[in-house]
Amino acid sequence: MTTDAAPETRSFEADVARLLHLMVHAVYSDKDVFLRELISNAADACEKLRYELLSDPSLTGEDAGQPRITVTLDADARQLTVEDNGIGMSEVDLVEALGTIARSGTKAFMDRVAAAKEGEGAQLIGQFGVGFYSAFMVADRVDVFSRRAGSGAAAHWSSDGLGTYSVQLVEPSAAPARGTRIILHLKEDAASYTEPHATQRIITAQSGHVAVPIFLKDKPDAEARQIADGVALWTRPKSEITAEEYTDFYRSAAGQFDEPALTLHYRAEGLHEYSVLAFLPQMRPFDLFDPDRSGRMKLYVRRVFITDEAEILPRYLRFMRGLVDSNDLPLNVSREMIQESPVLSAIQKGVTSRVLAELEKLASKDVDAYRAFWENFGAVLKEGLYEDFARREALLGLARFRSTASGEGWRSLADYVGAIKDNQTAIYYATGSDLDRLASSPQLEGFRARGIEVLLLTDQVDSFWVTAGIDYQGKPFKSVTQGLADLSLIPLADGHGAAAPASEEVGGFIAYVKAMLGDEVADVRVSERLTESAVCLVAPDNAMDRQLEKLLAGAGRLDAAAKPVLEINPRHELIGRLSALAEDSALREDAARLLLDEARIADGELPSDPRAFSARLARVIGQAAG
Ligand code: ADP
Ligand code: MG
Repeated sequence: MTTDAAPETRSFEADVARLLHLMVHAVYSDKDVFLRELISNAADACEKLRYELLSDPSLTGEDAGQPRITVTLDADARQLTVEDNGIGMSEVDLVEALGTIARSGTKAFMDRVAAAKEGEGAQLIGQFGVGFYSAFMVADRVDVFSRRAGSGAAAHWSSDGLGTYSVQLVEPSAAPARGTRIILHLKEDAASYTEPHATQRIITAQSGHVAVPIFLKDKPDAEARQIADGVALWTRPKSEITAEEYTDFYRSAAGQFDEPALTLHYRAEGLHEYSVLAFLPQMRPFDLFDPDRSGRMKLYVRRVFITDEAEILPRYLRFMRGLVDSNDLPLNVSREMIQESPVLSAIQKGVTSRVLAELEKLASKDVDAYRAFWENFGAVLKEGLYEDFARREALLGLARFRSTASGEGWRSLADYVGAIKDNQTAIYYATGSDLDRLASSPQLEGFRARGIEVLLLTDQVDSFWVTAGIDYQGKPFKSVTQGLADLSLIPLADGHGAAAPASEEVGGFIAYVKAMLGDEVADVRVSERLTESAVCLVAPDNAMDRQLEKLLAGAGRLDAAAKPVLEINPRHELIGRLSALAEDSALREDAARLLLDEARIADGELPSDPRAFSARLARVIGQAAG
């Protein structure tokens, strides 16, 4: 097959162009990571081929050799080449893989970079793991020659990383017999990567534990020497593996750049045999809240990589990285059938329970580390409270909360129940988006006055699990903005006086307000929960929590919000004075409507009719001043 067609020049996708610009101009100090990225891609390509060979052994083509990665140095030409005999890429694959960014979380990453201060963007690059494009940190031109396994055609991709790239079909002899050759034309200041000892040290340190052997050629015509054995780290005994080795493996296999906060390496024996190597990251991955993102645990069967889509861990543990290597799944099973396999579901159960148990251990033995974990991933773990009924107890035990008693710290439900008041029958919570505003909402007053702790829930997910009918040690969760507060059985703390019953006058005023507001509210009633404010809004008994209602309405998932109940504090001085007004006073009507708007504003809403609101306010102020 001859192919002399002129190269086709294409522009990078906008996101790639931005990323490349960052990379070319970055002063990111740790440029060595480009080697880790290229070697990890080469290893992935070999592992993909190993899997495809199971069903089609003819894919080896002319290259019958074992999987291998070869790095070749050429000081004279200032070039570094990374070659693998893996799955390879066709012309179309090259355009798709090296012209776009498929990686989830890219958008979140780009937004962070755009918002970052001068100089900080470069640090972020390291955290995101830029993959193939990191080659442009050290090279001013990159050539890729590739041949897809089983194909007779070879293709050449080339770019200077400045906005465009070219692709063209080439003579098969220009590419490896199978797999991919990536040639970096090194920048002047990156010439040191052609120095054999330094480069070998970098490769073995960063990538010494990938599951494919690595060879190094000091010069193009030198003998290739093996510098990494390709023995998968997880197959070695735990006692022989150092913390650095685990970290390097975590970084190269999981594409993370931090240290693992927790490393889990064990072998399950018995009914099913499998090895687990899993890591809890210290930093939040950029794609944590990406709706498409499920897990990042890879499935191997007897050292052969099968898939990273087996959902070994539930979604609420999607921050975990690592792999499971099964001994008893059949190798020739298709990816689709694996999903249905009872062996896989046994593995899923086992690994999930183990991860939760390790988190429990961490919580009891290293409070600071657990706190850091919770601050990063608590919002994700809480999804499990409504997704995983069977493990709800364990998850409730792991959960931590801000509350009216927590200060800057975190409270567990055990802490909460341990400090519960006599006659208190529920675990009270308030939900909202802003912690400070929540802590000062009027609905909390009566609870505070009685020393009753209230959980302050500010994660979006909170509104969902609290309404899932959950209880903890027999105590239901109850919103402070929902239904009757029923606090009368719990005495006020010292200094709050006694809760005197509402006078007849106040009763009359409340009846008036109710008649006045008519359809705008579900009810107007005396409040148990207010001690300092005059009014507040709550949800009617058995109605949806008001914050959840707002959330659903905001997402367009609710047609009409339920009408709120206006609660009035009969002990408040203002209410006393309004109640004493003559029945025909014009002020009474303005006051009734202003009270409702005041309660709305305290909830972060707007008055229902801003013009009428200002007119009323002006009248009332005018009277007071006149
Ligand atoms: P990631 O590895 O996270 O997918 P990269 O930027 O490192 O992202 O690589 C982009 C894509 O390019 C890979 O997903 C793969 O499809 C392709 N690719 C890169 N290097 C190779 C290689 N040596 N062999 C085959 N495909 C490759
Ligand atoms: Mg990669």
